[in-house]
Amino acid sequence: MHIETLTAHTKDVGGIPVARLLPQGKRRTIGAWCFLDHAGPAEFSADSLGLQVGAHPHTNLQTFTWMLEGEVWHQDSLGFRQLIRPKQVNLMTAGTGNTNGIAHTEQTPEGIKTLHAVQLWIALPMNQTIAPHFEHYPQLPEWSENGVDYILTTGSFGKHTAPTTQYSPLVGVDIHVHTQQTLTLPAQQAWEYGILVIKGSVTAENGITAHADELLFIEPHGNSHFNLTAEANTHLMLLGGEPLPHPTLIWWNFVADSREALCQAVDDWNQHSPRFGAEINLNGTPLKRLIAPEVPAGLGLR
Ligand code: MN
Repeated sequence: MHIETLTAHTKDVGGIPVARLLPQGKRRTIGAWCFLDHAGPAEFSADSLGLQVGAHPHTNLQTFTWMLEGEVWHQDSLGFRQLIRPKQVNLMTAGTGNTNGIAHTEQTPEGIKTLHAVQLWIALPMNQTIAPHFEHYPQLPEWSENGVDYILTTGSFGKHTAPTTQYSPLVGVDIHVHTQQTLTLPAQQAWEYGILVIKGSVTAENGITAHADELLFIEPHGNSHFNLTAEANTHLMLLGGEPLPHPTLIWWNFVADSREALCQAVDDWNQHSPRFGAEINLNGTPLKRLIAPEVPAGLGLR
């Protein structure tokens, strides 16, 4: 078993503290999970509009939003407009290949003054033909055992299975540990796992401890489970998945399997290609359509 701790790069995005755990230098992915931000908890001032992200595109990935506190409006270029609330998942699929893509906006509703969320991306298997789509999961499997609360956001865990659409095998479980104890978590031998600590701390079998905004990265290497000791009042998210059979390149909001495909996505978005669907009707809100920056000279070249 291989276990290590990854530390977040933290920044302030319009008054929201954001801890980025993935991608980072030594660890780009956990299975197909290829991007992980812990956003908040944030309290907005009276004059703040909160999160206001203008139209921006995605390719070859799914955006997976796990809401903990607050509310966010999602609106996309397929015409979906959906409010997400705590304990809900929004899953937006960009589709695969050089002719698919999607765009969306994200906005805090008027009057909402908090935000706390885990924002993930899932790289799509680029050997599958996948069309753009949007799904909202208002209710997910939720249960308690031995003073631990579980919510299954995607995949299967124990005898529970979430309804969330997947294109490669994944799991995502929100776990609240109320009293200090050791959890035995089931593992698939060839998968990769990450434990995002949202609050509190966990210690792995080899004595490595992860605190808030740290990620324990675990490769089971043939083991069918791993043990974690959590201190009282610990909130974490277990992520896991089977590695994709191809490399995942990321630039800005795009995923692709080659530098050429990333350059194509940048050009297509900046030239208003119909690949990204319809222009989003913003109903008069002053959001700006974002501009894709050019792919850096060295990215994706060996
Ligand atoms: Mn987005």
